[in-house]
Amino acid sequence: MTTFETDARYLAKTYRRFPLEIAEGRGSLVTGTDGREYIDLGSGIAVNLFGLQDEQWKRAVIAQLDRFQHCSNLYCCEPVARLAELLCTRTGMERVFFSNSGAEANECAIKVARKWAAEAKGKEFYNIITLNKSFHGRTLATLAATGQDVFHRNFQPLPAGFLYADVGDRAGLERLLKEHPCAAIMIECVQGEGGVIPIGQTFADDIRALAEQYQVLLICDEVQLGNGRSGRLYGYMNYGLTPDVVTTAKGIGGGLPLGATLLGARVAEVLQPGDHGSTFGGNPVACAGGVSILSRIDEPLLRGVRERSDYIFRELTGAPGVECVSGMGLMIGVKTARPARECAELALSRGVLVTTAKDRIRLLPALNIPMEQLKTAIQALKTCAEK
Ligand SMILES: *Cc1c(COP(=O)(O)O)cnc(C)c1O
Repeated sequence: MTTFETDARYLAKTYRRFPLEIAEGRGSLVTGTDGREYIDLGSGIAVNLFGLQDEQWKRAVIAQLDRFQHCSNLYCCEPVARLAELLCTRTGMERVFFSNSGAEANECAIKVARKWAAEAKGKEFYNIITLNKSFHGRTLATLAATGQDVFHRNFQPLPAGFLYADVGDRAGLERLLKEHPCAAIMIECVQGEGGVIPIGQTFADDIRALAEQYQVLLICDEVQLGNGRSGRLYGYMNYGLTPDVVTTAKGIGGGLPLGATLLGARVAEVLQPGDHGSTFGGNPVACAGGVSILSRIDEPLLRGVRERSDYIFRELTGAPGVECVSGMGLMIGVKTARPARECAELALSRGVLVTTAKDRIRLLPALNIPMEQLKTAIQALKTCAEK
């Protein structure tokens, strides 16, 4: 059997795969087993922050592998402590819980919000308000937090305690806060899976004001947008928000599974021994890679992200067949005259890897993609937009 046939026979049918088998890659170039080279504008869904086989990341990972690969959370070790310190000093947060994925980072945030609210406000204050079209993960609780009915169907009953507000609807959000005892508001500053939609400064201000007024926590899900992709270290920094909890994953590990839940001053002491845990969470190899990634997200890199972003917006806005361009930094949605999936498949046939989000193709290139490769890929994409 070919790999395609074996894959189709033995893997659960959860993913609609593109017709490409990856052989190897370097930077933002991927080679398929078909012998063709592709320019990668997907980064394995926002994961490979500095592209494939990034030398510094590889060195950090291999150096840790040469010491030990795992030691459990019963002992401390250097890369884990160092990454937590870096995350806190660069955000002003107080403590970090490490896990292995975005969903787990959000599960932890939900548990923290519930425990904080039960202790600070009373046990009925367990509701968490999320936004319609949000995406927070696939575990049952994070699925319930995800404000999209399509994902809820077939998996009832979901955990209770989640309410949904529309992006931009201040009055609706306030009504929920007034009518239900709440623990937190949880948001993505740019809704990723929901179609690459920024919530906007006005609504961000509304959320900040209402969270303050109703004394609920603000949780920012930075799983996709975080770690430099927005053009700042974390997406919420673009809106001047000060979240109590920040969750991240995807890019932070540079390609190895790593999730982090950052706890601000109000909730820093909420988790106590026995409250939460993970066998693999905070794996030393993943964290060593994370240190290498995070310590290189500096102002020159972020300036490069913004320049690349400006280039993409400039080139695609108003181009033939492009109906709209949305997003922030290097998380960009492009609505084309051609249906999104068809456009992504056409792009693949023309040597460019992109993903989709709802009715858009979604661009999530490596933060350091060489400008020449980006230009080639964007020009190729332009030829795919028209019907
Ligand atoms: C991908 C994503 C998640 C889920 O992350 P997993 O690592 O797949 O569990 C959660 N929130 C957002 C915003 C995401 O983009």
